[in-house]
Amino acid sequence: MSVDQSPHVIVIGGGPAGATVSTLLAQQGYQVELFERERFPRYHIGESLIPETYWVLERLGMLDKMKSSPFIQKHSVQFVSPSGKHSAPFYFHDNKPHECSQTWQIRRSEFDVMMLKNAEEQGVVVHEGVRVLDVLFEGDQAVGVQIKDETGSVKEVRASVVVDASGQSSMLINKFKLRVPDADLNKGALWTYFKGAYRDQGKDEGATIVLSLRDKQGWFWYIPMQDDIVSVGVVAEFDYLFKGRANHKTTFAEEMENCLTVKERVSNAEQVAPVKATKDYTYRASQAAGDGWVLVGDAFGFLDPLYSSGVMLALKSGELAADAIGEGLQKGDFSRAQIGKWEDGFVEGMNRMRRLVCEYYDGFNFGEFIRRFPHHRGSVTDLLIGDLFNKELDQVFEDIDSMRVTKAPSE
Ligand code: FAD
Repeated sequence: MSVDQSPHVIVIGGGPAGATVSTLLAQQGYQVELFERERFPRYHIGESLIPETYWVLERLGMLDKMKSSPFIQKHSVQFVSPSGKHSAPFYFHDNKPHECSQTWQIRRSEFDVMMLKNAEEQGVVVHEGVRVLDVLFEGDQAVGVQIKDETGSVKEVRASVVVDASGQSSMLINKFKLRVPDADLNKGALWTYFKGAYRDQGKDEGATIVLSLRDKQGWFWYIPMQDDIVSVGVVAEFDYLFKGRANHKTTFAEEMENCLTVKERVSNAEQVAPVKATKDYTYRASQAAGDGWVLVGDAFGFLDPLYSSGVMLALKSGELAADAIGEGLQKGDFSRAQIGKWEDGFVEGMNRMRRLVCEYYDGFNFGEFIRRFPHHRGSVTDLLIGDLFNKELDQVFEDIDSMRVTKAPSE
């Protein structure tokens, strides 16, 4: 590892958020050093993209790579009710007849390598196998990081801005105790992979299916991927899934009994991975930036994966942060006001997705809503594809409010 001269920006973590912010800054001609503790490819959950990732992927120069990848095309999302009734698919293309309406089911180990290589091709200096031990400060100003490579050698690297894209390791959230947990969305997840499971054909082959548990305690995801693999996971209240239950394998099998459509779909398939588990609580940092530092992706916040918004939010926060940091570098202004100027708009968008998630858990009936307000069908689809940063869509929530009083955000 050699870092000879101070870069303009240091990025901690080479996941989708880190790769995005670093690539977009390198495109503007800035020197960016990215430190990733793992050697890629590495496993990661988060396999279903939503269409609004298109625009950031386009800026990154990733679209051609995605189009020639083995990733399965995703054109729609489908919902299955607790009684096993399938909704009509929400085809993204019906709403926006543009190629951005098609997205992908990705194998993250491969997608993340593509993103990181793409960053390197565009000038980012990527160091794999290098862990950031700490962020260095002079007063309130971040001035660099302390890193440790695989030989055990420790050194300091200085930069004008440090971007924390360390995912759920959340380096700076932990350092400054910025975590705001979301008590309404205290969930857990169990998941595994099947080979040879049932999948629909043609345009529906790559549809994400969200299936409610029979007793409405939670839901299953069913994500068809390449190589005849399907990712299958269950999300439910943390206590329900993990307290007083036998072990992950048994709980997963028990929950399949609670969702017979999933059980039928995998009945002739081979399970090809052990059951994995996470406490996938929703949280957010109380601020997205300070003087000389910025949080992006899961290092800023994580939202329940019901609508597969994680990677899109990682890409979007990376894009917004890169633009604000680029402007700051031009002006020599690394204050929180400058490099965190995107925070309020981003949080508004995240709150729109959070609202949709909470409505689902509260049992809100979107089918009934669209029957009553048919002109909102397009807007609901827009929100589901991740078009979250458009204030005009708030009319949907006003009309939801007119149908019922909903939960308020806990923070
Ligand atoms: P990450 O992808 O986690 O990348 C962070 C990187 O930082 C890692 O590579 C890590 O090794 C590195 N790092 C950490 N600490 C250090 C350090 N000290 N030094 C150097 N490097 C470090 N999202 C979707 O879009 N679709 C889905 O279907 C979906 N399903 C999900 C299901 C579950 C159960 C969960 C928990 C999440 C799901 N997500 C989904 C969310 C998605 O996984 C994340 O939002 C996304 O990975 C965030 O990207 P990121 O770049 O912020 O973080």
